[in-house]
Formats: sequence, C-alpha cells, structure tokens
Amino acid sequence: MSPTVPLYPLVIVPAALALFLFWRRLSLHLRVLRAGRPLRRSDRPLERIKGVLIYVIAQRRLLNDLGPGLAHAFIFWGFLVLLATTGNYLSNGLVEAIIGWPLGGLLWDAVTAVANLLIGLIIIAIAYAGMRRIVRRPPRLALSRDAFVILALIGIVVVTEVFGDAFRFAAAPSLGARPFAALAGPLSLLLEPLGSQTATIGFGVFAWAHILVVLAFLTYLPYSKHLHIFTSEPNVYFRNLEPRGALRLMDLEAEAPAGQEVVFGAKSLKDLTWRHLLDPLSCTECGRCMEFCPASMTGKTLSPKHFMEGLRDQIVAAETALSAAASSQRAARGGVATGVEASDASLQLARDRATEALSLPLVDNAIPEEAVWQCTTCGWCVEGCPVLIEHVDSIVEIRRNLVLEESRFPKELNTAFRNMESAGNPWGQPRSARLDWAKGLEVSVLDGDGAVSRTKSDAFAGMEGGVLYWVGCAGAFDERNRKVVRAMAQLLAQAEVPFAVLGPRETCSGDPARRAGNEYLYQMLAQENVATLTAAHETHGIGTVVASCPHCFNTIRNEYPQLGLAGIDVLHHTQLLDRLVADGRLRASRPNPAAVAYHDACYLGRYNDVYEPGRRVVDAVPGASVVEMDLHHRRGMCCGAGGARMWMEEREGQRINHRRTEQALALSPDAIATACPFCLIMLRDGTSDLGRTDVPVRDVAELLAEATGAWALQAGARQ
Ligand code: SF4
Ligand code: SF4
Repeated sequence: MSPTVPLYPLVIVPAALALFLFWRRLSLHLRVLRAGRPLRRSDRPLERIKGVLIYVIAQRRLLNDLGPGLAHAFIFWGFLVLLATTGNYLSNGLVEAIIGWPLGGLLWDAVTAVANLLIGLIIIAIAYAGMRRIVRRPPRLALSRDAFVILALIGIVVVTEVFGDAFRFAAAPSLGARPFAALAGPLSLLLEPLGSQTATIGFGVFAWAHILVVLAFLTYLPYSKHLHIFTSEPNVYFRNLEPRGALRLMDLEAEAPAGQEVVFGAKSLKDLTWRHLLDPLSCTECGRCMEFCPASMTGKTLSPKHFMEGLRDQIVAAETALSAAASSQRAARGGVATGVEASDASLQLARDRATEALSLPLVDNAIPEEAVWQCTTCGWCVEGCPVLIEHVDSIVEIRRNLVLEESRFPKELNTAFRNMESAGNPWGQPRSARLDWAKGLEVSVLDGDGAVSRTKSDAFAGMEGGVLYWVGCAGAFDERNRKVVRAMAQLLAQAEVPFAVLGPRETCSGDPARRAGNEYLYQMLAQENVATLTAAHETHGIGTVVASCPHCFNTIRNEYPQLGLAGIDVLHHTQLLDRLVADGRLRASRPNPAAVAYHDACYLGRYNDVYEPGRRVVDAVPGASVVEMDLHHRRGMCCGAGGARMWMEEREGQRINHRRTEQALALSPDAIATACPFCLIMLRDGTSDLGRTDVPVRDVAELLAEATGAWALQAGARQ
C-alpha cells in the first residue's frame, strides 16, 4: 500500500496563499498590459500555434547555442513531465490514479521512467548552468542572484521529488513503478533497511518539502525574470507575422479618444502596444540579443537586453503605484479612512500616482537617450532572442516620439532630413543629376510616354512584365556606388534584359527617414514613389522592380504595400544576377582567383532571408570563392550604417565599421564583397582607416561584370 501525504488537507493553506500571491502580481502585470495601445495579433491561429511548438516546445533558437541550449531544454522538457509527477504530490496521488488507470498502471510507469531520466538531466543541467555562471561566465550573462535562486529552487524541487519517491518505494517495495525509476528506484534500495515506518515518515517529510518548495517557486515566479515560464508562450504566439522588414504604419491623422491627447510614437509605457509591453515581461535576461548587437559589441551605451530590463523596471514601478492605488480604493470602499472626503483625496492621489507612473518618459528611464540613436536597426536582437522579443519596433517608436513631438534628434540628422525633403535624397543633390551615373551608357528612362520594352516571356522565365531598375540615391549620387550601378546596367544589357530607370522621377525610398523616426517624411517620400510605381505598373506594364540597395529593396517590397503598392515583384540585384547566371544568360569566363570575404547586408539577409544569391554570384566567377567571417548569415554583423546611422556621428566606443572590417581582414582575403551601397561605403572607409587599401571592397555585381566582360574595369573603381 502506497503511503499518502500526511495531514494532506492542510495543503489548502499554502496552496491558497501561493495562488493568491501569484494572482495578485499577475493581475498587476495584466493591468499594465491593458494600459498599452491596441494591436491586432490574433489572425492565422494555426501559424501562431506552430510558432509556439517550434520556438517554445522545441526550443529552436536556444538550441542554436548547443551547450546552454541543451541545458535549458532539459530543464524545460523536464518541467513539462514534472507537471504530472508534481501534480501527483499536490493532489495526493490523484494524477497517478487517473493516468495509471486505463492500462493498469503502465502509463504511470512510463511517466515515472521519463521523469527520472529527465530529473537526472535537469541535475546535470543545473550543475552546468551554475558552473557556467561562476567559472566561465560569458559577458552577455549577469551574475544575478535571481538566477541562482531559481537554479537552487529547481534543484530542490527535483531532489525532494526523487527522495520522496525513494522513501515511498522503500515504504511500499511492491509498487509497480519502482523498477522504472532510474534514480528513485536504486535510492530506495539504500533506504529500505530503515524499515517501513521510518520510510513512511521520510516520505511525509519529503512530500511536504516538495509541495512547499513548488508553491514557493510558483509564488516567486511572477516577481522574477523567470516569469518567462508563463509569458514566453503568449509572447511567441502573438509574434509579428507580417514581414520583419516592415515597420508599423503610423496613422498621422489619428484622433485621440475624448479627453486624451494624440501621442505620436512612444513617449511612455502606455504608448507601447500591449504586445510590446509583454516583451520585457518575457525577457529571460539571457543576453543573446546583445551578443552580436553592433552597438554593444563596440562598447556603446545601447544594450537591447538592458533596454528590456529598463522597461521591466519601469513596469514594476508602475505596478507598485497601481497596487497602492488599488489599496487606497479598497480602503476607501471599506471606510477605513476617517472621513469620506479624506478617503476620496487619498484615493485620487494614489490614482494620480499610478497614472504618472504609466506616463513616465521611457527616455532616460527605460533607455538612455544616446542609446536610442545608437541602434542600427540591424535586427540581430530580434533574430537572436529565444522568446521573439521585438526590440526594434519599440526603439523606432521611441525615435518617432522624439522626432515628431519633441524635435529631439542628433543634429546631423537635420541635414539629412532637410535634403530628403527638399531634394528627394539625403545627399542633397539635384534631381536632375540622378542620371549622371549613366553617362556614356544607353539606358531607357521611363517617362510619361512609356519607354519600357517588355521582357520576352520565353527569354526570362518567372518574370512577367517590364523590368524597372531602381538605382537608389547612393547609386545615383555616391561616386563609388555609381560604378556599381553602371556595372549592373551593363550586366542587364549583356544579358539582354530590357529595362528602364526612373531617372529624375525616382526619389528616396524613405528608409533612412523612417528608421530615424521621421514617419511624416517617410510617408511623404513613399507616397510619391508608390504613385510613380503604380503608374509604371498600370501604364507601362512594369511587373518587376530590381533594386541595388537592400534598404530600398526592403522598403519597396515590404513597406510600400502598406501604402497600396501591389502587383509588382521586387528583387534585389543579387537575386536577378543569380538567376541570369543560372539561366546561362550571363557567362563568367574571365578568371579571378580570389578569396572573397562576403559581408551580409542586414536588410538583405536578416530582414529578407536573401543570403545565398550574392554568394553564388561570387562563386560563379572562375577562381573566386567565398570565405566566411566568424559572423555570417543570420549572425552577420552590421556595418554600422543602418537605421539612418549612415547620417549620424559615431561618438562612443569603437567604430562599428572598423570592427566589421577587422573581422573581414582577419581572414586575409583578396577582396571583401558585399551587395549594399552603404555596406560598401562603410567597409571601404574601414579598410582605408585601417591602412588596408590593398584589400579592395567590391559589390558582387562588379566582380561579375569583370568576369563576364560586361564591364571593363575603370580606373579607381577598386576603391
Ligand atoms: S531580450 Fe531576448 S535575447 Fe535579450 S536578454 Fe531578453 S530574452 Fe535574452
Ligand atoms: S537592432 Fe541591432 S543595433 Fe539595434 S539593438 Fe538590436 S542588435 Fe543592437
């Protein structure tokens, strides 16, 4: 006969207390989430559930980092199984009875076997995690008390369960599950000589210890970073399913609800959406987001992890105020205060404090002002975060508020904003100079009369309608990048792809304005381009836009549909060149024996998952081969120009482009290749500043144009 938990009915006391404390804190978290802005994230439920299975249950992102990932996965999977075995203690054997009933106890035997196996793995994982923090702690991890408290609690939970089971088996040796319990079974053999009575007492002691520690764990969770045990599932479920490269479209004519003011962007907690308020409550403080954050890596103030911690601290402060307001309300209702007037006053004061706490500015509370501007919007933090936190959205919302409401931004941006507004490009060059790059080339310019030839359907499979080559401001005005777009135009001509450009009718895509928080300016530029592209589609049959700049590519592809652009395929030039090579329409025959360090542009790779075409174009050149930097593909490090950083001074820490160039030079390459005009400028400046102008920085289009003979290399093109 299996022993039962002694004095079991008393369990109601600690259980009720734990549930009360748990709910009290959780309800405060929910109140803060409810104070956030609305956001619709309930579409496509099956896709959302699939994400939970992949990112939470299968621990996909954590397992990218195998050692710590496995340690976390063992603890997580172990706890899923322990829900059954711990539930059995909490219910005094009810779970075992229910699970064991259908197959005569076999199912419970299986649960016991798996639980014992996982408890063993959990103990190893705890030892590993503890040692990792003490002995060789990676810089991304803090030596936090909270982490050790949780590791200790997990350890006590599993050890008390093993000893409880072992004493139970010792008290009732004939229990069927005993042979399946790899830990508790053998331990019970050691305890059996104590006798059945002592074993029963031992079981009682460990059963109560187990129950109390589990309840303490439950109570502690919502007060600690380990709240993510409950919040990571909804955070992943309600993740963004729109293209990652599309920022939220702001309604610039929005009207505030009665009695409230319109706030552009995010000034305080209540201006973030509920989903972005859930982010900091889901943060595990693992630091993966800052591991390859170019700002954190180069010693700047910005750390995406600290940003989340800052937001959480602010939420906790708001909750404290909300809690005080709720207490005052209860006191007022219960007539605890001496008079109605006094209680109303104190109630109002408490409410004001709660409102104030939710309205406290984010800047210089959750995040220092300089850090807001140090973000390159490279997207690593979003890519690396195991619980799918969306840092960039919140940072851009803060920038929007600073720019649109307070005109507070780095002074260098003034010039870029003014140039984009007046000249349609950040360089401030006249529109009439947009075709200067094409001097000496024959290029069709799309005008009101329709100068676009239609692509022959049999000549270029998969591409319908005419091709519009989007040159971009850098291609049009930056001397170095003019060579790239010339190479591209000549490759298109060589491959007999009929194409046209917009010339003076092209204007800045608006990406730098949008990433800098100037949504007004972005929408102004974007609306003009959307109207031009829509007319080109409807009047001239343009079916494909090919962009050389990944920022333009991302904006046209992912953001212009928000403003009504439809029916046009958007390609990056690496994708088109890759297709032309594969179709045999471009033949690279001139050898160039070179080891080429390939740099992934963030808005091509991480934002649009275009990693391989650029590499394949390099590999198409006879003798050339890609050598990979330590940080490549999804872990590629930003060059430092994104997020409108191209137009800002870099005042703190090492220059990001220097760090990235050092990483490339460490491979002793013959050349560095990329496929983005801004990366090209940053890396070119990097080699120049580091005294390594002997290593040319090239766009893949240039390498291909040389190899196909499309472009006879011009003097000075190498730098
Ligand atoms: S934001 Fe994500 S990656 Fe960064 S510390 Fe938190 S959980 Fe880890
Ligand atoms: S987007 Fe890039 S620069 Fe900005 S916080 Fe994230 S990792 Fe850092």
